[in-house]
Amino acid sequence: MTDRIAVIGAGQMGNGIAHVFAQAGFPVTMIDVAEGALGRGRGTIEKNLDRQIEKGTVPASERGAILERVSTHTSLHAVTGAALVVEAASENRDLKFKIFAEVDRLADQSAVLATNTSSISITEIAARTSRPQAVIGMHFMNPVPVMKLVEIIRGLATSDETTRRVMEWSKAVGKTPVEVNDFPGFVANRILMPMINEAVYCLMEGVGSAEAIDTVMRLGMNHPLGPLALADLIGLDTCLAILEVMHEGLGDPKYRPAPLLRKYVAAGWLGRKSGRGFHAY
Ligand code: NAD
Repeated sequence: MTDRIAVIGAGQMGNGIAHVFAQAGFPVTMIDVAEGALGRGRGTIEKNLDRQIEKGTVPASERGAILERVSTHTSLHAVTGAALVVEAASENRDLKFKIFAEVDRLADQSAVLATNTSSISITEIAARTSRPQAVIGMHFMNPVPVMKLVEIIRGLATSDETTRRVMEWSKAVGKTPVEVNDFPGFVANRILMPMINEAVYCLMEGVGSAEAIDTVMRLGMNHPLGPLALADLIGLDTCLAILEVMHEGLGDPKYRPAPLLRKYVAAGWLGRKSGRGFHAY
């Protein structure tokens, strides 16, 4: 029988993760506390699927079956029966600790509990459960249906068997998993976030406009998106949360979030998801 996958959070990452598993033939249980988020998540899956059909990467005849594989729920009780739970709720330490303690009680004994966190310690999340050997980071990149990488993060107690199973599931959805160890920001954000933060400082100090900064990095470094446009895509609240974790966890002032980033988040200018960030959408 094909493994059932439960995804917690139907936001931009959660619906993408549900999408790629359903596309690869896995039955998916998508859970969110907000009914509205489940509806929007399903709508996004449909829209992205239609784009893939237009491009010819998914046969139109598979559309119905892929969508039927995704069921939506508002209670964490729906994790029962899943072989893999991937948590992709908001980037908040206490929220994730609470979710993992609860999912540990509700999920099957043999289930692997993965988190899509961008920065929060896998070891600390695992310590909230009775099965730290089965807890692991499964860091998909945004947009999930497009991006090839999954950063697989081993916590201090994560077993070889859990790592092996998660590498296999990642390959089964057509991704390339890369194994790294648990340290604030892991590898992807440890390198990316200081660049984004520096771009925000450049904007704050008037070194260049948002357009100028992004154009320099796009045309000068061949980046597909400038750092400020990328921050808007990721979500400025998520960027701030990751920088806070790195600043606190690594204790080095070089990771301090730019005051302008804090100001935008305080204003509710969160990037694409709120219609306005460093650029307007
Ligand atoms: P998002 O704000 O788009 O979605 C978060 C969702 O979690 C919301 O729909 C919210 O209703 C839901 N949620 C909140 N509390 C919940 C709970 N108790 N139970 C179930 N659902 C709950 O955020 P996102 O960008 O999808 O990020 C989700 C996770 O993925 C974060 O940990 C983030 O760091 C990580 N991540 C984000 C990106 C990115 O580019 N945005 C990339 C990689 C990883």
